[in-house]
Amino acid sequence: MSAIEGTRPRDGEARMPVEATPVEAIGGLVARARDAGFDHAARPLAERAGLLRALADAILADGEAIVALLEEETGKPAAEAWLHEVVPTADLGSWWSSQGPAHLATEAVRLDPLAYPGKRARVEVVPRGVVALITPWNFPVAIPLRTLFPALLAGNGVVWKPSEHTPRVAARVHGIVREVFGPDLVELVQGAGAQGAALVEADVDAVVFTGSVATGRKVGAAAGRALTPASLELGGKDAAVVLDDADLERTARGLLWAAMANAGQNCAGLERVYAVAEVAGPLKARLGELAGELVPGRDVGPLVTEAQLATVERHVREAVDGGAEVLAGGERLERGGRWFAPTVLAEVEPSSAALREETFGPVVVVQTVADEAAAVAAANDSRFGLTASVWTRDAARGEAVARRLRAGVVTVNNHAFTGAIPALPWGGVGETGFGVTNSPHALHALVRPRAVVVDGNARPELYWHPYDEALERLGKGMAALRGKGGPITKVRAVARLLGALRRRF
Ligand code: NAD
Repeated sequence: MSAIEGTRPRDGEARMPVEATPVEAIGGLVARARDAGFDHAARPLAERAGLLRALADAILADGEAIVALLEEETGKPAAEAWLHEVVPTADLGSWWSSQGPAHLATEAVRLDPLAYPGKRARVEVVPRGVVALITPWNFPVAIPLRTLFPALLAGNGVVWKPSEHTPRVAARVHGIVREVFGPDLVELVQGAGAQGAALVEADVDAVVFTGSVATGRKVGAAAGRALTPASLELGGKDAAVVLDDADLERTARGLLWAAMANAGQNCAGLERVYAVAEVAGPLKARLGELAGELVPGRDVGPLVTEAQLATVERHVREAVDGGAEVLAGGERLERGGRWFAPTVLAEVEPSSAALREETFGPVVVVQTVADEAAAVAAANDSRFGLTASVWTRDAARGEAVARRLRAGVVTVNNHAFTGAIPALPWGGVGETGFGVTNSPHALHALVRPRAVVVDGNARPELYWHPYDEALERLGKGMAALRGKGGPITKVRAVARLLGALRRRF
């Protein structure tokens, strides 16, 4: 791919192509980021934290341009672009610059002066080096920034390959990063799978990947071959459990938002609702009404890619052919571009793709279940496990049920909004992968511990060569002293140790 072409999701109009990065150039970009990373890592931590604040300010100041590009490339409504992509940058900047340094601080370690005389030790937290950051198109600003902030705070260089569906907004964000951090610390690779695959194999020190399960498997395999640590945040099939005491009006509105935000193109988009029989009827009716009130274009954007639209259509058609109830929507909207009506299905055949595979569109399925236990079992019956929610007026009951859900994030009476909170870890289980972004846990992918020991002992160590019988007795005495024996055994061990020590010196 030498040029990235595409059409606008809102109206199908062709866009000016964007030049792709030649695969042969990627090695050089990694080398440049590595060199710049050495200088960056040498900056005091407080200076790096200050630069994060400057980056957040610069991105917020450029909000209008970023939102315009997001509308062009993803079609998402401006309200979503501001609230989901631009505004969270402020919290990223303030949280990582204020809380992050404590998690990167050097820790002194006390060594037993008898066993290790004259030694000083500490554990430093050092950057991995060059991080390959590979990101999807659904949140083309928020997702890369979530890793860029801690990666740069930790002192890494970064080579970022954004999605081929959102190259323009990526270039805009990258331009801002360059202005704040200088030209080479964060390099941009434009392109698709070929560029992504080449980057993973380009002698990087860590890979942070967010995307589909299929690509995640390839990235994980390639990183495994290169023995490069990889963080993989993959797909989802989020579920909600609605209990008999739920506040139905708030629940219906919350579920609908969780399903339709970003036109459902959200790894934590709500795709499955399990409602107990007592409330399922009224909940289904209200969800259908509310979905019918959503205005495409204003409340719900288009599908970003043609492939995604085709997947959504297939899942809905299969479910309907299998006998599902259609409570709202159910079909493509003919208005130019890539639109699908906000859709609520119910009582879908359990093996249907709409309940088993990631739909990633404005579609939610409501299933009636007998009771709480059946709802939990159905919610957990998935290969994925990113976020899950429980809806009830009884918070304690909600928490107890939430803990039984197999997911990386569980919420009571809300769903999936926590991706924007830097203090809370975001990650999943099963085929959702094992990457974690946000919170100090995100640092695992971006730093490594380095033990530093300085020995001021002037004498040769006791345990160095030559090995002799006294050293062997010393070993036996130490084992007895540290073992479980009673006072007599310990006294004998000390005597044996002293004798051995005398002979050893
Ligand atoms: P995708 O897997 O098609 O692409 C993701 C990125 O990988 C893109 O930049 C792409 O160019 C690149 N890529 C493609 N082939 C590659 C290869 N062989 N080696 C390296 N890189 C390669 O995903 P997408 O369609 O852009 O994004 C949607 C998916 O992302 C959904 O499955 C969604 O659930 C997932 N997602 C997950 C999270 C999370 O936090 N778990 C967040 C957002 C999106």
